[in-house]
Amino acid sequence: MSDQDTIYALSSGAGRAGIAVIRVSGPDAGVAVVQLTGSECVERVASFRKLRHPEDSETLDEALVFWFPGPRSFTGENVCEFHVHGGIACVSAVLGVLSTLAGFRSAEPGEFTRRAFHNGRLDLTQVEGLADLIDAETQAQRRQSLRQMDGYLGRQCAVWGDELLHSLAYFEAEIDFPDEQDVPADVAQGLRDRLEVLVKGIRSELAVSRGSERLRDGLRVVIAGAPNVGKSSLLNLLAGRDAAIVSARAGTTRDAIEVHLELGGYPVILIDTAGVRDTDDDVEREGVVRALRYVETADVVVWVCDATLPDGEDVTPGGFDSPALRVMNKMDLVGEAPDVLIGDEETIRVSVETGQGIDALLMELASLADTTFGGGETALVTRERHRKGLEACCGHIDEALLAMGSGAEIVAEHLRRAGHDLGRVTGQFGVEDLLDVIFRDFCIGK
Ligand code: GDP
Repeated sequence: MSDQDTIYALSSGAGRAGIAVIRVSGPDAGVAVVQLTGSECVERVASFRKLRHPEDSETLDEALVFWFPGPRSFTGENVCEFHVHGGIACVSAVLGVLSTLAGFRSAEPGEFTRRAFHNGRLDLTQVEGLADLIDAETQAQRRQSLRQMDGYLGRQCAVWGDELLHSLAYFEAEIDFPDEQDVPADVAQGLRDRLEVLVKGIRSELAVSRGSERLRDGLRVVIAGAPNVGKSSLLNLLAGRDAAIVSARAGTTRDAIEVHLELGGYPVILIDTAGVRDTDDDVEREGVVRALRYVETADVVVWVCDATLPDGEDVTPGGFDSPALRVMNKMDLVGEAPDVLIGDEETIRVSVETGQGIDALLMELASLADTTFGGGETALVTRERHRKGLEACCGHIDEALLAMGSGAEIVAEHLRRAGHDLGRVTGQFGVEDLLDVIFRDFCIGK
């Protein structure tokens, strides 16, 4: 296997579809166009062509063919795309021909994007943005990953990197020309000021980006409470489908069930857990232990109670680090006595049966999501990897500032390290160890 091979893959989803896109990249991509269409295609425009088997000229399909000579292509190499009909036989006939061409092989997962990275078409943060865009389930995630793919973080890192280089140049000069005068005091103060502004700028970006890392994962909302209060029914209603088993027998949901929702544009993961109660049943007890573990790691706990039970019989929430919403369910069964206050003022009263109060609950959840993710879409730092790199960079700038006045070598070394940390964020250098981890998340055809 070589980087010089021409690679091909189905880049659209597998299975029956109206259209399927087969992508080819590498030095001989143009050969694929000629072999399948019988002639060359005009670059960068759609050409409608019959695809024929090169040996017996049998028509395989009619397709739109795109030809992008490198370097102005996604990967930076010669690239062609065949937009064929999305039948399994059409796709396999075209892939079959490509597999017979000399120097061609099927692509590894993420190999198109990896080549784009190695050819400087995308930096590492853009690669991550592309992966996030493909995985985006909500509008807020889509907007965030588009910004990332546009290279916002990469460009900001370049600005920070230039600022570092500017200071580093003075200290390098002092090392290279020790006989010259030291950096004059006013210049040194100017450098110190600029480095302080720089480190403050990076730190304030880190501070506003807290929500953005979370936006990739979603708000974890755990539905918990005693058995039979209507937790699974609530999850099903919110999910709009029968994701959890609803049963009139207590203790049915033995393990957690997750449903992914979009609320107010934000990703929310709803988790239904086993009813919390004392029990002799080993399996159920394990369910309770797990439920409590979910409660501990939740962003929001929706604690469901049953309005028909006397107050004291319901376990009430408390002792959670995360915000807890107390939801009193089955209000339809106590509707005859509206003047009886059930639960306290904070309690959201609902009936899964009639839908009463569900909008209020959803609004409350959307508002909690907004508080958690607010500003996340426009933040630059979307991954722990970026955060760690930028924090390390700031740490080295702090060290450089401390070392100022005690030798240009030490200051320069800290500034060089800060630059290195910054370069690792965008993939400029020192990232070979990271690439396998990052591209592992990609599938074939990307
Ligand atoms: P879980 O054990 O807390 O998950 O409870 P389930 O969702 O399995 O519900 C237990 C029983 O309560 C089922 O028979 C549901 O149909 C019923 N139930 C749930 N919500 C309501 C409600 O709002 N009103 C009424 N009348 N019954 C409900």
